[in-house]
Amino acid sequence: QISRDPIGDVQKEVREWAIDKKEEIDALKNQEKFRREFLSNISHEFKTPLFTIQGYIDALQDGLIEEDPLLANSFLNKAANNLDRLSYLIKDIDEISKLESGELPINFQQFDIILLINEVLESLELKAQKHKIKLVFKDKLKGHTMVFADREKIRQVLINLISNSIKYGNEDGKTTVRIFELHDQILVEVADNGIGIDEKNLPRIFERFFRTEKSRAREIGGSGLGLSIVKHIMEAHQQTISVRSKEGVGSTFGFTLEKK
Ligand code: ADP
Repeated sequence: QISRDPIGDVQKEVREWAIDKKEEIDALKNQEKFRREFLSNISHEFKTPLFTIQGYIDALQDGLIEEDPLLANSFLNKAANNLDRLSYLIKDIDEISKLESGELPINFQQFDIILLINEVLESLELKAQKHKIKLVFKDKLKGHTMVFADREKIRQVLINLISNSIKYGNEDGKTTVRIFELHDQILVEVADNGIGIDEKNLPRIFERFFRTEKSRAREIGGSGLGLSIVKHIMEAHQQTISVRSKEGVGSTFGFTLEKK
């Protein structure tokens, strides 16, 4: 068929090509922006603990150990806490970059979610006791408890969520893990009666390096990467992660798994 408007056709083709290219260029620009922001976040996050450690060490070198051994001791503890924070950061950055580059593929397997939850709760018992938080597992589910997922990655999800509920819990608080059977999924919920998250910050907590002012002020170690790792893992499973929370009341995180 002969075109009635060959020039118009070529123009249309060129326009379409340009739109295509523009999308490609925009995507590249976005990636570049993302990389720049990620690096600047990382260096920002490293700076604070490094300067803090430097400050404490300076004070100790200036004779604080002889002058005020008690204060010197507390400075040493604070320096150690900041070192902890740095090692958290490195571990989480390593984890998230591996997840994103696809270096950590999802290894689907069949396993019993109840056994895994019990293992994780046991491994976090000491930490919970230190923060005076009671860990409770309501495993009322009598029927199906086998799921199809990457066991080690789901362990990581549980560790991150339960650790958060301990970190952001109030003294004598409680963390409750519950499981529910849905149509073809299992829903796992981790609920706490801790400090909660205000409405304004709630949509942002899964962002990399995002930490609320309140949690920064708590002097609790954290990288701000735990929840973005969780989100990443759940997306890779094509499952969901959700949260509801009220400031001063508590938070409930829930994620789904495929039943097997
Ligand atoms: P972090 O290393 O700071 O714990 P996360 O990515 O795990 O980083 O969480 C991001 C932020 O979301 C936390 O800094 C905290 O402000 C908030 N948050 C996460 N879990 C809870 C929770 N259970 N209760 C209250 N706030 C929470």
